[in-house]
Amino acid sequence: MGVGHNREVLKGVIPLHFTVSSAQVLHDAREYIRFGLDFFIRRKDHPYLLGLVTNDTCNLACRHCRVANQGQGNMPFQQIQRHLETFYASGARFLYLEGGESYLWRDGDRRLQDIIDFANGLGYLRVHLYTNGTFPLTAQPDFTWVSIDGLAESYRKIRGIPLENVLRNVRNCRQRWGITFVVNTINQYEIKPFLQFIQQEFPQIQVMFFFHTPYYGLDELLLSRKQKESAIAMLLACKDQRLPVLNSQAGLQAMWSGDYPHPTRLFWVVDIEGQYPCCRAFNQPEVCRECGYSTCAEIMLMRGLNPEALLTMLRSL
Ligand code: SF4
Ligand code: SF4
Repeated sequence: MGVGHNREVLKGVIPLHFTVSSAQVLHDAREYIRFGLDFFIRRKDHPYLLGLVTNDTCNLACRHCRVANQGQGNMPFQQIQRHLETFYASGARFLYLEGGESYLWRDGDRRLQDIIDFANGLGYLRVHLYTNGTFPLTAQPDFTWVSIDGLAESYRKIRGIPLENVLRNVRNCRQRWGITFVVNTINQYEIKPFLQFIQQEFPQIQVMFFFHTPYYGLDELLLSRKQKESAIAMLLACKDQRLPVLNSQAGLQAMWSGDYPHPTRLFWVVDIEGQYPCCRAFNQPEVCRECGYSTCAEIMLMRGLNPEALLTMLRSL
């Protein structure tokens, strides 16, 4: 039973504005406690986080991407509802919406906000949205992640459009948002100037760094071991200088050593074709060895009660 149901039951008994907020606060408190007990204390191995690929349609053709416009189209709203219900029942409380470009998802009159509303009504505690930032950021998730991986020239090389197309949307963004930056051989030397630019332009905004992952085989964007070591050293130095690196120090070190439990079954990805623990590269150890998905390392360190990783995850809740 989701919090939306509680709202219906209580409607008319107490003034609605009070009912909704108090029911929600109670529900969330109860669910956060349950999450904490299951995740940290009982250490139950069930899905906590669901990454839902709502569509593969995208208005960009980024250099590193091979998941966009592969003919899958939009996942129907009914199928989305079923997945959200099923994963909620199996314990998932955190939802990441991803594409393609999430703002392009549609099913008849349904739009992205309908998915967010449905997930909230079911009782998901947090809904995060990943976007390329080329559309006005009008949806209301709990947190929006905008992909910006480079200053003007690098950004254009990777994404094929002017950076300004995205900057004008994030300037108008009135919700909580952060940046995802995937380090590759094109932007590896821009880490510090990029962070300085973001700190100046958007003083409250943090950047989560990922590393290019060879999902589709080794390519020219993959950093060599030496390049990755330099990039991580630069990120650690930037953190010391209070530039807005969201990754924890321990998380960055884990990205170098690979010393954290992965792949994992604590989060799942669902697309129109199937369900996958961790990500769609599950069962490909050669890819997992080079995994650049830093959030995975942060979550696993958080489970080990690493205080810095805990803080990183709290800051992006
Ligand atoms: S914006 Fe995302 S989904 Fe679209 S092409 Fe780029 S990486 Fe792929
Ligand atoms: S560790 Fe997980 S996220 Fe990383 S490549 Fe493997 S399956 Fe994907």
